Amino acid sequence: MNKEEVKLNFEPAGPVAITRCERYDAGEIEKVIKAQLESLGISPGFFENKRVVVKPNLIMSTSPERMATTHPAVVEAVLKVINAARPASVTVAESPGGPHQPPLLRAAYNASGIAAVANRCGAALSFDTSTATISLPDGKLSKTFEILAPAAEADVIVNVCKLKTHALTQMTAAAKNLFGLIPGTDKVAMHARFPHPADFSRYLVDLACAVASVCPMLCIVDAVVGMEGNGPTGGTPKPFGCIISGRNPFAVDTLCEYLLRLEGEVVTTADARLRGLCPGGIDGLRIVGDEPASVFRPEQVKHAETKPLNPLTHLPGFLRPKPVVELATCTGCGACAESCPAKAIAIENRKARISYKKCIRCFCCQEMCRFCAVKIHKNFLLRLVK
Ligand code: SF4
Ligand code: SF4
Repeated sequence: MNKEEVKLNFEPAGPVAITRCERYDAGEIEKVIKAQLESLGISPGFFENKRVVVKPNLIMSTSPERMATTHPAVVEAVLKVINAARPASVTVAESPGGPHQPPLLRAAYNASGIAAVANRCGAALSFDTSTATISLPDGKLSKTFEILAPAAEADVIVNVCKLKTHALTQMTAAAKNLFGLIPGTDKVAMHARFPHPADFSRYLVDLACAVASVCPMLCIVDAVVGMEGNGPTGGTPKPFGCIISGRNPFAVDTLCEYLLRLEGEVVTTADARLRGLCPGGIDGLRIVGDEPASVFRPEQVKHAETKPLNPLTHLPGFLRPKPVVELATCTGCGACAESCPAKAIAIENRKARISYKKCIRCFCCQEMCRFCAVKIHKNFLLRLVK
């Protein structure tokens, strides 16, 4: 990345804060975040008189108990910390999967519990479906991005993400959460444009850099309870017992991949390292907090069944894991077909049918199925070697 042409609003060696937090108690989390901002050197002036956009992870319209979305207690704590600094305005903005339409947005805000906390804290919920173009002249895979207009026009973005394993990118935390700034079905087009997970991940690095060039960003990771297994929606809740924050999304993600036991296996972080955007690994991170990060690292974390032997290899189609619809569970709702970039899904007799000739293995169908009817099947040869 040519730093003279693009000013990124974070330091590659910037600090990351991690603090114990085992309960979704908004008051307790507020204290944690306040202390973290102090140790990161972020003063109230960061928010004062600024138009602040808060970007949670609301991947789909679902309840907080599923642990697929940022917990409302974390969003409430973040809003209270921002409010105390007297911002000009605070807006919660997000584009979940599926069409970016006000009724669907309202459903996601309500189901996640975030409508209620925004209301309590006097923050606006964005139903603005307009977009604006941001650019990254030195982007490796993409140089322009159409993102939600409120985020493109913000003075500060607070990226309040959830720590989860992920079937396509292996992990979702700070960098991947910014993909939610791409409106609705435009996300589907990006999956079609970058069908290989490594290319898609490099595109995410470009996107995160473009967002970080618009305005300062603060990343806060809800890792009180995250998700393991076939995330981002089909896994199981996993307590990590901590909150993580920092200005540099890739440094934050370096700590997150360490906690998930995915070091060196997340292409967004590996690519950011190659571009000189973050330290080379956990040992190079400047970590601030009460306890060493190793205290929060679980003994075991289940990864997505799609995890490749090498994240950069292109396996032949017949060897790659594939999505399979469990017909007894499928309701025929069609959400998977709507989100399929390859148009590989047809609804026949109220059941989803996948054409494997067309399927690009992006696992968007698995991600978007609220009934967990899409399972991941691995070839028996892969089962033998893993
Ligand atoms: S697989 Fe899931 S998303 Fe697709 S039609 Fe069936 S229930 Fe709906
Ligand atoms: S069927 Fe599923 S995995 Fe295959 S291209 Fe469509 S959304 Fe992606």
